[in-house]
This record gives sequence, C-alpha cells and structure tokens, in this order.
Amino acid sequence: MKRQSIIAANWKMNGSLSLISEMVSGLNQVQLADNVNVVVCPSFPFLTAFTYAAQDENLQSRIQLGAQNVSEHQSGAYTGEVSTQMLKESGVNYVIIGHSERRSYYNETSTLVAQKVAVALEADLTPIICIGESESERESGQTNQVLSAQLQPVIDEIGIEKFLDVVIAYEPVWAIGTGKTASPEMAQETHQFIREFLAMKQTDVANKVPLLYGGSMNAANCEQLLAQADIDGGLIGGASLKVDEFKVICSTAKGYQ
Ligand code: PEP
Repeated sequence: MKRQSIIAANWKMNGSLSLISEMVSGLNQVQLADNVNVVVCPSFPFLTAFTYAAQDENLQSRIQLGAQNVSEHQSGAYTGEVSTQMLKESGVNYVIIGHSERRSYYNETSTLVAQKVAVALEADLTPIICIGESESERESGQTNQVLSAQLQPVIDEIGIEKFLDVVIAYEPVWAIGTGKTASPEMAQETHQFIREFLAMKQTDVANKVPLLYGGSMNAANCEQLLAQADIDGGLIGGASLKVDEFKVICSTAKGYQ
C-alpha cells in the first residue's frame, strides 16, 4: 500500500510577492517521486498571487496551495477572519489548523481546532492538523497523553472515518524554529504512537493518514527523518523560505512504498 507523502511549506508571517514567483518557478523544476505532493502555505494576501503565478508558469499539478489558518465560521461579522469559501475561491486546497503558534499566542484550544477541521472538510479543503508537546511535557513523560488529548476532540467532532481526508503534522513545540530537531528515532517512535492511537479506532484509516514531521527540518537532516517508516513527509518553516533548500527537501521525499 502506498501512502501519500506531503512536503508542506509554512511561511508563517514571512515571504513576499517576489518569493512567490521565485518559489513557483523553482518548484516547477523539481522532479517529484510518484506519490509526493508539495503544499506551499503563504500568508492570506499572497494566496491569489500564488494561484496566478501557478497558472502563468503551468505549475505541475502536484504542487498545491495551502493557507495557514481559517475561521470556524462560514461568513458574517468576524472582522479580520477568513472563511473556507474565500480560501476555495483563492485556489487553496489545504489548510494548516492548530499550529502551536495559534494554540499558544491566539489561545486556540483543541475544541476550536476540531471545529475548524470540520468546516474545512465540509468545504473540501484538506486540513493539516498540527499536534505536539512542549519541552516540559516531553521531559515529564507526558508526550503520548498530550498528543492523544489533542487528537481526541477532532475524532469526536468528525469521526475516525473522516481521517482519510486529513493530514496530521507532529510538531514537537521545542523543535519549532529552534534548530533543535527530534532525532529520527524519537520522531519515528512518536509517529508510530500516533498511528497506533488512530489504529485503536480504525486500522485501515490509521494506515492511510499521512503523518508529517515538523520542527527544524532542513536540507541536511531531511533524508534521515523522511526515511522513517511512519514519517510521510514534513511541515517546514524556516527552511521553506529558501527556494534552493526547499527544493532539496521536496526532491528527497520518496513516499512510503
Ligand atoms: C513550523 O512552523 O511548522 C515549523 C516546523 O517551523 P521550523 O521548520 O522553522 O521549525
């Protein structure tokens, strides 16, 4: 069975219109393995620019557009928010939900994350659900408990069958933007736990969900991380802002055979 592999770029509040065109032209030259897809997630104002650049460059179809957040509401008086429908109209196919920066700086709870996942799925957007433990949670042996508690509200909201349409990104908070990467063995062990947790609900679904690793992945460490049995790709922050480095990561991904 082949699982889909995904390399996703989270630009956070970085990037520019010129980086959009450089990235689109750069990625168009990358030779991707069979079951590998690439998702670029710039800030909201750059989404349509990506879509137009992709049309102009005739971008390979396995390179797609993602957003970094979405409202749980459909429309209405929610100043500053962006709806699923707006993302669809802008050419978006994926949306990052529950990034640790959203959870910690904007107080997004796992319940809210679950609601956002549900509205994204209703709109036919693929959610990239981020989960991960803090350094103190890992040190005190609570990692598995934290990850289960982040996933359970999503399972309760959408049901396990719908996980066939989601992507999960395991991002240890202590590894995000710090240059400290989880070792391939530690990352594999945690990914295996996540898959087993899902398998307790539904084995077939668990075997199909792409599990991405995020946390200081770069051109130098991606090969070993992506070689692990339960790591199906990466969510990449800092290294995704450098076109040449991101291209190396994309072409390293082989996907699960
Ligand atoms: C992220 O923000 O999702 C991330 C993984 O960032 P970085 O690669 O910079 O650690």
